[in-house]
Amino acid sequence: MDFELTKDQQDIRKAAREFAEGEFPEIAQECDQEEKYPRDLVTKAAELGFIGVNLPEEYGGSGYGYLEKCLVTEELWRVDPGLGSVVIAATFGADMVELYGTEEQKKKYLVPLTKGEAVMGSAITEPDAGSDVSAITTTARRDGTDYLINGNKMFITNGTVASYFNVICLTDPDNTSRHRRHSVILVESDRKGFEANKLPHKLGIRASDTAELYFKDVRVPQENLIGEEGMGFYQFMEFFNRTRIHVGSEGVGIAQGAMEKAITYAKNRKQFGQTLSSFQAIQFKIAEMATRIQAARNLVYEAACKADRGELDHKLTAMAKWFAGETGVRVAEEAVQIHGGYGYMGEYDVERFYRDAKIIEIYEGTKEIEKIIIGRALLGR
Ligand SMILES: Cc1cc2nc3c(=O)[nH]c(=O)nc-3n(C[C@H](O)[C@H](O)[C@H](O)COP(=O)(O)OP(=O)(O)OC[C@H]3O[C@@H](n4cnc5c(N)ncnc54)[C@H](O)[C@@H]3O)c2cc1C
Repeated sequence: MDFELTKDQQDIRKAAREFAEGEFPEIAQECDQEEKYPRDLVTKAAELGFIGVNLPEEYGGSGYGYLEKCLVTEELWRVDPGLGSVVIAATFGADMVELYGTEEQKKKYLVPLTKGEAVMGSAITEPDAGSDVSAITTTARRDGTDYLINGNKMFITNGTVASYFNVICLTDPDNTSRHRRHSVILVESDRKGFEANKLPHKLGIRASDTAELYFKDVRVPQENLIGEEGMGFYQFMEFFNRTRIHVGSEGVGIAQGAMEKAITYAKNRKQFGQTLSSFQAIQFKIAEMATRIQAARNLVYEAACKADRGELDHKLTAMAKWFAGETGVRVAEEAVQIHGGYGYMGEYDVERFYRDAKIIEIYEGTKEIEKIIIGRALLGR
């Protein structure tokens, strides 16, 4: 297996690093503390080609693959996970439109995203349906040539800032298969009966917007159906098999950033007349961090390269997402430990990284769900 990045890939990685290092540090703390969504950052990122990295060029994307999007994601999350999330999640749902949308839908919904004119979300989770996607109860009832949507969605990224959402709705509640009852319907946020309430006081990625959505008799034309009626559950599983690769690279990025901060601190802080870096216990921590990061990165890159070759491997993707998420959490925790009491204080970035890391083990499939996927694949169930 070839682990070398091409010149083009190295350039993309370098450009993403320069963008993040240039734009993020100045606003990172403020956006975290004030839970502020920096909309301008999305516009800037779009101008520089960091929005829609893996979307086709005909819709304004860069036309790259999963690996290139991983490189960008990793670099942005390395500098600040909250702001990395703002940029990377600005198109959360675009892959669904690209995979299952009609040509007209792709032009209508993907082009504004890549221009930075619109932000998108995907609304699956409900107050009583999280890991069990098949249990969602938001309904879309046919009414003439429209759907009437009723229900609510929980924890939706970009909830108060997105122009439109992929919403998974119950369209065939009587179907005997729990997995053939749902459809994906694109809902614009300016439709009558739609409401979004921001959910404040998150543990981490506080620059990212998270909201509860309410749909009260929201009328949407049937042409907003994405893909096939009754196939929404399968469409979302296929969607997550792709997006989870990038969530894995979020874990790699956050771990890399935390480790670099720990190394800098360990080289400068002196106790017992020596720098922390001279203690073997600290060297072991750094060695463990670096090894875990390398293993996580290799898993993520392999999953991405396979996806780019058209061999999407859902077991490998689940391994990458779970392991990289755990790596992010463990490495951020050890980075706080190396900073001692200072690491516990808000003025040091590792405190924020530690809070930010946890989300990777929760969203787009919890670590337990990822292990279920891996176990079932291995046991043939
Ligand atoms: C900041 C943030 C952003 C989010 N963004 C979005 C978004 O944009 N769109 C969206 O739709 N959702 C979003 N989510 C929701 C997220 O995907 C869900 O929180 C997640 O899927 C888990 O669902 P739940 O919270 O209902 O937990 P539950 O499903 O209730 O799970 C609770 C615990 O039980 C465990 N568990 C559940 N079932 C099993 C099982 N069969 N075996 C073993 N353990 C199990 C879980 O792993 C977890 O540890 C977001 C969440 C957060 C916090």
